[in-house]
Amino acid sequence: MEYRKLGNTGIQVSAMSFGTWLTFAKQIDYSTADELISVAYEEGINFFDNAEIYSRGKSEEVLGQILKSKNWARSSYMVSSKVFWGYEEGKPTQKGLSRKHIIEGCHAAMKRLQVDYIDLFFCHRPDKNTPIAEAVWAMNTLLQQGKILYWGTSEWSAAEIMQAHLEAARNHLIGPVMEQPQYNIFERKKMENEYLHLFNNEGMGTTIWSPLASGLLSGKYTRKDPGETRLSMKGLEWLRQQQLTDAKMEKVKKLKLIAKKMDVTLAQLSIAWCLKNNNVSTVILGASKPQQLKENFGALKLLPKLTEKILQEIDKVADNKPVLPEY
Ligand code: NDP
Repeated sequence: MEYRKLGNTGIQVSAMSFGTWLTFAKQIDYSTADELISVAYEEGINFFDNAEIYSRGKSEEVLGQILKSKNWARSSYMVSSKVFWGYEEGKPTQKGLSRKHIIEGCHAAMKRLQVDYIDLFFCHRPDKNTPIAEAVWAMNTLLQQGKILYWGTSEWSAAEIMQAHLEAARNHLIGPVMEQPQYNIFERKKMENEYLHLFNNEGMGTTIWSPLASGLLSGKYTRKDPGETRLSMKGLEWLRQQQLTDAKMEKVKKLKLIAKKMDVTLAQLSIAWCLKNNNVSTVILGASKPQQLKENFGALKLLPKLTEKILQEIDKVADNKPVLPEY
């Protein structure tokens, strides 16, 4: 495993981490979840990602129970949670980034995860109804109380993140140190354009999500019938429609040829492509089967083979490389 600094912080995060969205307490049973966590930890993964909304708190309960059952030093791994959508009925006071929900959400997540503190705590989305300063103050309070160690944002705009930094600086508080955006061969704008100023000037780290675009970039979908996979799950019709489009499937076919030429799987190539970006602190992997995770670990070894020529071939197929202004 390789370890990377989480932006300007002093913490070292494994270049690949492991998340539980849609799998824990939903798609897979407890024993598979338990095996996945062991496989991840034994490979050197030191960060497990979670959120209050994942199975409305049940995903955190499963992760908490599994971690408690292992004999691993608490100091050897990090857990996260994210606050925004809530874990209850979604009444007005049970969601968003008000001081009330941030503080209550943190306490509830700590209980479900069975931890004394949460290592990385995220504002899962921006809340248009709460002043950014209120969220910054609430996060700073949790930091001062030792209930969270680092805080960050997820899918905030660069302007919103900059305002959080401004509010923090103005009030001598600790601002967000990491962002959690989607990043994969099909989704590049935030990481490769919008956030560049934040990386260069604020030293933000990133914990990027959906490196395989929910499995599409594993290359296993050859037709629109998703079979027994995430994209066939009830309630995820929106995700299936978003991913299994003719245009994307055509590109996947071409990307598969590049992977074949390199003698690797498309999943490995796609994850390595994310890792190649120096502004990525950790790629959060998702998996419903231990075999998938083991295959995906192969991405790290591939990094030296991702030459400029290969990257250009990928750019040509993806046809979405952000164009930056010339100075
Ligand atoms: P991916 O895009 O990598 O998708 C993971 C899924 O792809 C797996 O569950 C599996 O689904 C399939 N898959 C993985 N590896 C392989 C393989 N080698 N061959 C074939 N299929 C494979 O990541 P996720 O979308 O799961 O995102 C990762 C994590 O990021 C989440 O768990 C969560 O922690 C975080 N996240 C954060 C968000 C945010 O808003 N902050 C939003 C979404 C995710 P299957 O077997 O069912 O096909």
